Amino acid sequence: MKIYHVSAECYPIAKVGGLADVVGSLPKYQKSSTIVSQVVMPFYNNDFRRNNKFSVLHESKITIGDSDFECRILTLKNNNLGFDLFLVDVPKLLFKDFVYSNNDTIRFLAFQIGFLDWMLTQNEKPSIIHCHDHHTGLIPFMMTQSYKYQSLKNIPTVLTIHNAQYQGWFSHDIINVIPEFNFAKVGLLDWGGVINPLAAAIKCAWRVTTVSPSYMEELKIKANGLENLLNHESKKCVGILNGIDTEVWNPENDSYIVKNYKSSTIQSGKKTNKKWLCKHFNLDEKKPMVAFIGRLVGEKGSDLFPVSFRNILKEKSCTILLLGSGHKEIEDELKALKPNFIREYNVFIGYDEKLSHIIYAGADFLLMPSRVEPCGLNQMYSLRYGTVPIVRNVGGLKDTITDIDQIGGFGICHERTTVQQIVDAVGRSIKLFNDDPKFKKIRKKIMSIDHSWSASANEYIKLYKSLK
Ligand code: ADP
Repeated sequence: MKIYHVSAECYPIAKVGGLADVVGSLPKYQKSSTIVSQVVMPFYNNDFRRNNKFSVLHESKITIGDSDFECRILTLKNNNLGFDLFLVDVPKLLFKDFVYSNNDTIRFLAFQIGFLDWMLTQNEKPSIIHCHDHHTGLIPFMMTQSYKYQSLKNIPTVLTIHNAQYQGWFSHDIINVIPEFNFAKVGLLDWGGVINPLAAAIKCAWRVTTVSPSYMEELKIKANGLENLLNHESKKCVGILNGIDTEVWNPENDSYIVKNYKSSTIQSGKKTNKKWLCKHFNLDEKKPMVAFIGRLVGEKGSDLFPVSFRNILKEKSCTILLLGSGHKEIEDELKALKPNFIREYNVFIGYDEKLSHIIYAGADFLLMPSRVEPCGLNQMYSLRYGTVPIVRNVGGLKDTITDIDQIGGFGICHERTTVQQIVDAVGRSIKLFNDDPKFKKIRKKIMSIDHSWSASANEYIKLYKSLK
């Protein structure tokens, strides 16, 4: 069985969020003596490009509307990623030093057309084409409706929705950019009067998955306009919980962190990492440290941070450290808090992979009061590093974290994304921290919870097999 994962992001090549982590790990865990699982993504002008060597597999011209563009398929020389990687290089459109911008319609269409044109040249066709998010959402439509790709129409396609907020909408005015198709089928592209690549994929893919079972159910109620469509297509929809790459995220040999540790050395290991963070960010190391890592957007509840943090920090009973970037207003408000809470609060605005690992290792608690959380990987990384998650009961957070007051519980959960509930949840975490024997026991316990890909990678394979 030969599977192509087609995605805009893949760790460690280009990462913006969880999509990269999933596409960079799932193929490793799907691989077996009978399964080849590979990744296709755009060729970006980033550090990975500068630090690696590539060879050209295929060269062609792709047509978008009335224009032709050079296109090459590259592969990595000396690949030690654990899966085969193919890069679609459309120099004029895709080769940028960023992944996303405000205007990506033609860029990602070029990626999809470059990929499908290359598929047409393959003697051995793939068994499955697995598309991730709206950036690859026109592939199932083009494979079944565009005249040019008719020889691919019997290849099963799977769409995974990592985030339904973003749908890739564009106007019918530029419909001619999509390779010619029977116009009677234009309705498959449309949702609400515009072309909606995510909706088109939900309609045309053979199966649709979301990254956790709860998120699937939540989307049927609220999906940024797609709820009726998901209800209508519910027979082909299923939620499969993401796993984590336990090789990359392993406190025992993580080369990013200050001191490695395992369950039996957790106290001294976490202490050394926390000490480094406290020194670096001028925080009081005796107090419990609550951290946040992520995008500073409404979905993550981060617009409520400035007010919540003011309330929490006036008690002076914990420290808060934040790593993230996003809405400028939230970033500015969070930076402005700093002088008020020296030794108790700090924020690093930006993206820093190494720092994120040290925070998972050194913090005592990880805060995730998300309004929407399709799966959430941070809470699973934090468990693996013995950091107790504080989460809102939503999406994948609901599927992975049980409150300490429940039987077998190990996290701190709250029901709604409000200032009061964030403040109360952090209050509960401080109480837990002060109950030293209980806190130590929970820390050790969470390190042994298995969120590796083994179960979920198999669920995907079962799903692929059901399509043959
Ligand atoms: P998202 O909705 O952003 O995809 P996920 O929880 O699925 O959220 O995945 C987020 C991933 O991105 C995690 O690996 C997290 O550590 C990482 N991440 C998010 N923001 C930052 C940042 N500012 N610096 C480093 N890593 C980050």
